Amino acid sequence: MKPLKRVGIPRALSYYSFFPLWKEFIEELGFAVIVSSPTNRKILEDGIKETVNDACIPIKVYHGHVLDLAGRVDYIFAPRMVSADGKSTFCPKFLGLPDMVRFIDEALPPLVDSRYNRSGLPGGLWRFFYAVAAALGVRNPLLIGRAALSALKKQRSYQKLLRSGLKPPAALEVVFSRDEIKKGRAPAQPGLKQEEDSVAVALLGYPYAVFDPYISAGIYQKLVKLGVEVVTYEQIPRKIMRRFSKVMPQNFFWYYSNQVCWAGLHLIDAKTAVDGIIHITAFGCGPDAMVDKTLEIEAKRAGLPFLSLAIDEHTGEGGVQTRVEAFIDMLKIKKAPVRVG
Ligand code: SF4
Repeated sequence: MKPLKRVGIPRALSYYSFFPLWKEFIEELGFAVIVSSPTNRKILEDGIKETVNDACIPIKVYHGHVLDLAGRVDYIFAPRMVSADGKSTFCPKFLGLPDMVRFIDEALPPLVDSRYNRSGLPGGLWRFFYAVAAALGVRNPLLIGRAALSALKKQRSYQKLLRSGLKPPAALEVVFSRDEIKKGRAPAQPGLKQEEDSVAVALLGYPYAVFDPYISAGIYQKLVKLGVEVVTYEQIPRKIMRRFSKVMPQNFFWYYSNQVCWAGLHLIDAKTAVDGIIHITAFGCGPDAMVDKTLEIEAKRAGLPFLSLAIDEHTGEGGVQTRVEAFIDMLKIKKAPVRVG
């Protein structure tokens, strides 16, 4: 049998939100999907060499992931992410990503850089599916339609798992396992703290920073080890997000910034939902400068402890560990009942 052609997907940026959609669609079209290796020092260093100094670390790492795939795949899937909700757009660096990647100083396989844009004319998503298929040389409308429906179903299951409280790495595993419904039940819901003395923290930030343990210095894993219940924006129900999208006088222009901000405002408003907020922000990220300040001001107004952690390629595990531990200790002391006598 002829081996399947391979499409490489970088394990960075939109991977954490849309991988089930990409993978299912491409596989249903009859291709094999290869994902780049988990981020490591080489990937980061390769990415740094190919990008400008002031690019944020997620963009640098993305370039390293593209290089990790070059030479072992027939295509690289690097869609131009424009809009996921038809209202806001992705940040300018996402918009220009395929163009930046083309400047990598190494021979790359053809890029599949179709526009993912749910705004504008109706059928934005279908145009995207047809464009991806065309870039891969597939023209059969029946095959494309079937693959698209299957991909949308997979993506919906993934989002359901995320809302149930599963975090992206676990939800990705579950969504592609056969046993997904049984395994997909997460124990905790946002805002439901399980034990009296346990601490719940909102870990806010863009999923490609929060859930890449290499660039975030493993903050999520550290919190779990400390026995902290971690709430992220992905698990906030859509209905609540819609409600908070009407709270700010002016929403941000950028998709992920809005998601993080609406979730933060909800958790701050809910008062007892979490004991504190940790905001992971990428050094050099323009949108984050505003998101961070908004969350800080609102948390302060509500008397909710707030820790902002800026990450870049120099972020060390030790520094993060100390700050996170000190923050959690402070939350525990604040929560402990005052003993008299
Ligand atoms: S939103 Fe910020 S962190 Fe994300 S790609 Fe854009 S500049 Fe980088």
